[in-house]
Amino acid sequence: MVDDKNLKITFCSGAGTVTGANFLLEGYGKKFLIDCGLIQGEKFVDDLNWDKFPYDSSSIDILFITHGHIDHIGRIPKLISEGFNGRIISTIPTKEITEVMLADTAHILSRDKEYGLSEIYSEENIKKAMSLWETLEYGQKLNVDHGFQFSYKDAGHILGSGMLEIIYNGKKIVFTGDLGNSPSPLLPDTEIIDDADYMVMESCYGDRNHEKREERKKKLEEIIIENFNRKGTLIIPTFSLERTQELLYEINSLVENKIVPEMPIFLDSPLSIKLTDVYLKYGKYFNETAKKIIATGDKLFDFPGLKETPETEESKEILKVPPPKIIIAGSGMSNGGRILHHEKNYLPNKNDTILLTGYQSIGTLGRLIQDGTKKVHIMREEVPVRAHLAMISGYSGHKDSDHLVLFVEKTAKTLKKVFVVMGEPKSAMFLCQKLRDTLGINAIAPNHGESATIEF
Ligand SMILES: [Zn+2]
Repeated sequence: MVDDKNLKITFCSGAGTVTGANFLLEGYGKKFLIDCGLIQGEKFVDDLNWDKFPYDSSSIDILFITHGHIDHIGRIPKLISEGFNGRIISTIPTKEITEVMLADTAHILSRDKEYGLSEIYSEENIKKAMSLWETLEYGQKLNVDHGFQFSYKDAGHILGSGMLEIIYNGKKIVFTGDLGNSPSPLLPDTEIIDDADYMVMESCYGDRNHEKREERKKKLEEIIIENFNRKGTLIIPTFSLERTQELLYEINSLVENKIVPEMPIFLDSPLSIKLTDVYLKYGKYFNETAKKIIATGDKLFDFPGLKETPETEESKEILKVPPPKIIIAGSGMSNGGRILHHEKNYLPNKNDTILLTGYQSIGTLGRLIQDGTKKVHIMREEVPVRAHLAMISGYSGHKDSDHLVLFVEKTAKTLKKVFVVMGEPKSAMFLCQKLRDTLGINAIAPNHGESATIEF
């Protein structure tokens, strides 16, 4: 039993690892969950996901969601199947993104006969989650019994991403969710927090810095032009949420300003196409530059040469289109999806190019390609890799090590403690040490399943 005056945080999962965010905050007889994400490792869905939650799901009052990435929302259907019947709260775009993402995950998991996944990811459970869902605008306050107050600030990570601020007994606790690599091409910068008492923060890139963000668009331009001059095919494995829309936005500007020549560009991912439609609806959440372009009447994600190919038959036809051309397809780490077919077709050709724009985790095909492997196996066939390999790391959606410290520095005066989570152990420990050394802050990296008391 938690003392009425104090709050208890349990790091149910998402501590000591990047994925599976799930934190429990208890106090005054109330139980709040922050995020309910899928644990992902070498496999899209780790077996650990199907262990029972370490709390009684039916006793949770409210589930708060920070953003629509699957490692923050992916276990909501499981929570429902274990009896959750509370409220779910997020920003408006996060709700809509979640609906698309859960339907897609259900589709992937329906092929898996283990664990009764198709029952957990049933249409009924997803519908039930949506019926419990309420939304808040950034800055709008939600008051709950016993003086709890909740609100979101823009995290600038993906469309709708929010840092959750909780005020209780005159103190502020912030759950950062994932923090954007501001300035982003599309989104506003991460809002400043300068009055937090406690913080539970991400550390995906806690021990590394990105290449300069200003160079990313220039690099993209050069890669597209080189591929065009070689009359090659440029394949881009990409994440469907945010990265695809950022790339379309950048290519839109390069093509429409005639910086790169027009050529066929295929968006070959049904999930990306659906999510791009969600982005189109919520232009009011973009940054000022993107809003100004919309105001001129330009469609941000549509330009001469772009073709969406939602149907399998249309996807197969891409092969017949003569190069130069560009193909954008999922998944981002080449561990499934239509990109595999394109990799099989184009990796053997020395005139073609594969462009990696995101993190490739160990054990994935994308990581093997990134590491320069000369022969890979795709759908049980040996495929030689002769295509050019290009990489742009500046499109990362996460703040790097230096920017995480700069973010915390703004509230260093009021902070009593920082819990560093959502990072590999090495990354989390490194960030803790850096926060202690440079800002003199009490920072710890809790272990999976550990609890901490916040005293009032
Ligand atoms: Zn995220």
